[in-house]
Amino acid sequence: MTSNLSEVKKDKLEDYYEMALRCNKCGFCRHVQPMAMADERFWGQCPPGQNNKYDSYFASGLLEISRAVVEGNLKITDKVLDILHRCTTCGFCEEFCEPGSRLKPLSIIMALRERCIKEDKMLKPHREMVDSMIENMNPYGQPRTERLSSLPEVESLSSSSSDNLLYFGCCSSYKSQEIAKDSLEILTRGGLDISVDKDEICCGLPGFSIGAEKVGLEMLKKNIDRLNSSGVKRVVFVDPQCQFTFAQAKSHGIDLNFELQHISQTILGLVDHGSLTFSPLQEKITYHDPCYLGRRLGIYEEPRKVLSGIPGVTLLEMPRSRANSYCCGAGGGVSIAFPDETALTSENRFEEAASLGVKSLVTCDPLCFGSLEKAANGNGIEVYDLSKFLLRVVEER
Ligand code: SF4
Ligand code: SF4
Repeated sequence: MTSNLSEVKKDKLEDYYEMALRCNKCGFCRHVQPMAMADERFWGQCPPGQNNKYDSYFASGLLEISRAVVEGNLKITDKVLDILHRCTTCGFCEEFCEPGSRLKPLSIIMALRERCIKEDKMLKPHREMVDSMIENMNPYGQPRTERLSSLPEVESLSSSSSDNLLYFGCCSSYKSQEIAKDSLEILTRGGLDISVDKDEICCGLPGFSIGAEKVGLEMLKKNIDRLNSSGVKRVVFVDPQCQFTFAQAKSHGIDLNFELQHISQTILGLVDHGSLTFSPLQEKITYHDPCYLGRRLGIYEEPRKVLSGIPGVTLLEMPRSRANSYCCGAGGGVSIAFPDETALTSENRFEEAASLGVKSLVTCDPLCFGSLEKAANGNGIEVYDLSKFLLRVVEER
């Protein structure tokens, strides 16, 4: 399935003025659709709205703010920045508003974020993040030498003549390095010839996601120039947020000479080919849809097919799943600027997983993994990245 979501926006805030006026405050962007389908405790959508409980934090409120800024009736104050940057860019509002009302709430929110950058209005943590992207080629303020520093065996690999390249992204290169190692291991256990790029840099998404399109675009172009000239035919992404950023290249007038694939899709291909087989595991598990993999890229089924293909595994769905999935709370620059807000959201999501009585919660986005693992905090359910979970059961070839 291809997502209904619009491409990364390219318009000015003013271009969305009439559209913002058309929001009729129906509230469809606040709850799962249809509401009756799920446990009442988990009807909520739009994490900043649920956490802060005022209209201004929901998409409809942010559209009012956008309208007032265009009219000149509202200045971009610190409070406006605070509200605006609690949106995780989860995409739920756009997924459900656009088909019925022809509105693009998230695109308007992104245009407002860009307007803030044009007026040089930024939250301090975001300014530091952008500075680090320019200086260190990652958003975390860490020197390049820290990249994959605990994994010399991965770092020592470099681009080779393989047609396939594994793109880690900054989160697994710096924050959750075990995901980089596990991802490479599961693919090589499946017999895939794949290289890595020891000079990989940030894809640019952290810039795009806070409205700093210029720095985001510079990073994206650098990445694509390098990969286009490398001769690689397929780039496999550990992080769906990086894949989404690459997928927007065309909307910025950049051509790609290679195919994009998420690692869950690559793994499913290896399973279907018989190159990866799994031993039985009697375990109840659930799967968390990362917003960028699901709503943004339309990839829902591949991870589920891989997991439910493990003999003995029972895959249970959370009340909010697939297009209705609830965000982990970390995206859109929120975990960098408002870690407490991320914690509230991921705790709610963790509670939803716990309501199923499962032993494991599996996801396949390093950012989601990090926030959900924090929420779990050793409380009975193990949180896994997909590759790590599969390494428990993969059979020797
Ligand atoms: S943004 Fe769309 S879904 Fe949300 S209240 Fe407005 S019209 Fe309804
Ligand atoms: S993208 Fe998600 S967090 Fe942002 S306003 Fe829409 S529903 Fe809320």
